[in-house]
Amino acid sequence: MDEPVFHKELIAPCGMNCGTCIAYLREKNPCPGCRNRTENKPKHCITCRIANCEYLEETNSKFCFDCTRFPCQRMKQLDLRYRKNYRTSLIENLRQIQSKGIEAFLQSETLKQTCPSCQKILSVHRNFCLYCKEIINPN
Ligand code: SF4
Ligand code: SF4
Ligand SMILES: [Zn+2]
Repeated sequence: MDEPVFHKELIAPCGMNCGTCIAYLREKNPCPGCRNRTENKPKHCITCRIANCEYLEETNSKFCFDCTRFPCQRMKQLDLRYRKNYRTSLIENLRQIQSKGIEAFLQSETLKQTCPSCQKILSVHRNFCLYCKEIINPN
């Protein structure tokens, strides 16, 4: 299999693949991803209560699945929003990383988030390809 196009630094503590985020993929002033704690990102990601959670610091992996409170209320709310709006479960992402490892997760993300028409990266936040406009999972 080809090398995954995503890197592990792009996977946020909550299981979000920042490499598929609309803010990361935009041309103007792109966000560098959750684990890059610069100011150059949307306010809700700077002040994110998961990324800044005191319990996250105590985990070895710096992923929420390693936390004794997982899945806490914050994680459940975020997961519900992503399942409802973006057909993605961040809790499921974390369980995959936990059980199969980060490399296997990166490979499955590459398969899932590659446009079948133009082979570019699909954003989790859109149901069409940003580049060739192919509709993905219309629902
Ligand atoms: S906006 Fe948030 S979710 Fe998107 S790439 Fe930046 S840190 Fe990640
Ligand atoms: S699961 Fe919840 S309490 Fe635990 S590190 Fe993540 S956000 Fe914090
Ligand atoms: Zn495409």
